Formats: sequence, C-alpha cells, structure tokens
Amino acid sequence: MAHVGVVVVGSLNVDLHLWLERHPLPGETLLAGGGTLSPGGKGANQACAAALAGAPTAMLGAVGSDDSRHTALRLLSEAGVDIDHVLQLPGPTGLAVVSVASDGENTVVVVSGANAQVSVQHAEQWAALIRAADIVVSQGEIPAEVTERVARMVQGRWLLNLAPVIDLAPDVIRRADPLVVNEHEAEAVLRQLGAEAAGPEALVAALRDQGVASVVLTLGAQGALVARDAGVARVGTPHVRAVDTVGAGDAFVGALAARLSEGVDLVAAAEYAARFAAYTVQFEGAQSSYPAPGTPLPELT
Ligand code: ATP
Repeated sequence: MAHVGVVVVGSLNVDLHLWLERHPLPGETLLAGGGTLSPGGKGANQACAAALAGAPTAMLGAVGSDDSRHTALRLLSEAGVDIDHVLQLPGPTGLAVVSVASDGENTVVVVSGANAQVSVQHAEQWAALIRAADIVVSQGEIPAEVTERVARMVQGRWLLNLAPVIDLAPDVIRRADPLVVNEHEAEAVLRQLGAEAAGPEALVAALRDQGVASVVLTLGAQGALVARDAGVARVGTPHVRAVDTVGAGDAFVGALAARLSEGVDLVAAAEYAARFAAYTVQFEGAQSSYPAPGTPLPELT
C-alpha cells in the first residue's frame, strides 16, 4: 500500500451557493444575485486542503448514484486526493444549500444523502487504510457510530473536528489529539462531557480537565488557542480582506492535519493552518478558494 499521511473519513457534498442581498423572511420568495454549484462537504473540503498543503491524502466516504457525484469529486481528484475508496451508494449525493447575504452572514441547510448511509461495515472495509495513516481526520457529518468505530481503529493520531456537534461517547471524544472546535462547538462538546465553561481560555482549560489530550479552539479573525501538555498558546492569523469565510474552518483542519502528519509540533502546525485558512477567506467558495501548492500564503501578523 502506498504511504498515506492523512486519511479523512467523512462527508462529500455538492454545495449550492446562493448570493443574496439579504436572507428571505419565512414565506418570502427572493431573487438571488447568482448561484453556483461546487464541491463541498466537511470531509471532502478537509481532504482537499490536506492534499493541497502537500500531504499524501486519501478520502473515505460515500457519494450517491446521481450526476452530482461527479461535481462532489471533481476538485478532490484535481488536488491529488486518492478517491479510489469513496463508495457510490444508491440515492442522492449529499447537498448543502449555502446562502450568503451581502453583509457576509451565511446560512447552511444540509441534505445528508449518501453521507447518512455510511456504515460501520464500510469502516471495517477501510480498516487497513485507517490503521496505516499517520493521522485520521473525522467530523460530525457521517453517522456517529461510524466515527466511534473509526476512532477505535486508529493507530496513528486522531484529529476530531466535531462540527456539527453530534453525540459521541465521552471516551471517544477524549481520544481526540487534537479536538478542533470553534467556541460554540466547544461549549456543546463540554456539555456532552458533563462540564461547563464560558470564554475561550476557560473552554480549552475545561476540555483539557475533562481528559482531552489536546485542543485547538478556532476564533475566526482572532486566530486560535492551542492547548496541550506544554500549556496554552495563542496563535494569530493574517489580516486579510474577508470575502467569503465558507470552508475556512475546513481549510484550517486539512492544513493542520497535513503538517501534523509530518510530525510538526501542534503550535507550528496551527500557525501554518491559520495562514492557509486566511488565504481562503479572500475568495468565494470552499474548495475552489484553496491555494494551489506553491502559492504564497499571507504572513501572520
Ligand atoms: P466555518 O465553519 O465558517 O468554516 P469555523 O467556525 O469552523 O468556520 P473559524 O474559527 O471561523 O472556523 O476559522 C478557522 C480559522 O480560519 C481561524 O482560526 C483563522 O485562522 C482563519 N480565519 C477565519 N476567518 C478569518 C478572517 N476573517 N481573517 C483571517 N483569518 C481567518
């Protein structure tokens, strides 16, 4: 088996982006300023970012039997992600309707499609790849029991981006190294672990107290907090003109996984991830906004 640094087990979607002056009120019909269909899904976005950040990367997940599966996979193969193990299951490919208003505020509605059909039996089929990976990356867009099974198979490092937050067994959450969450997600995960805290510093401290090996709390334009045995470090992010932040969190996770797969320390990996993610917010779309290999990234400020 060829060496795989990063294995992502997660969702693949087609994103329908709608560009709106403002969001519609209940019962209201609006004309959009434009619309585009593009590849998305947290898993696929993160795999795309990891490959573009230079790591040999494989994607494990499922698309449907409809024509949109080609759109879902298009940029992954262009980025060099191994998609040979992506399943094609009967029914629709996952679909996310992303509405972006002129003030930059966005709403997302997701139809899970094939992502909801991924099963523990599929995870067993993928066991050899999962065990061989330097780092395995999971999110919350495939069934929880699959992610729990994957977490227990991993022999390298396991990165859990618990977005959206789904119910996972506390002992599984504690295996995350790192757990990558934003502030809202951190609050919800903490509740699942039976604790509470408010504010970034208190949240990462409480998650560590609950037994999570390492935590990366992303804070949008404020950067991130990294907590591990050596203490808590604040990581900045470049100042850029934000056009569209959709997929920035996924860019961060994929780039972080790429550096961690090479043994880079968590703080240095998060600094690289912040530069990679900040690049992407300057352009529209998720995967389509990710930098090609060799593109100069904005510097931390
Ligand atoms: P989303 O779900 O919208 O993709 P998220 O909440 O998971 O995002 P964020 O914390 O918003 O994740 O962003 C992840 C990282 O991307 C941040 O830690 C930061 O490094 C970078 N980033 C996001 N927005 C900006 C911005 N406006 N300017 C600079 N960097 C940004």
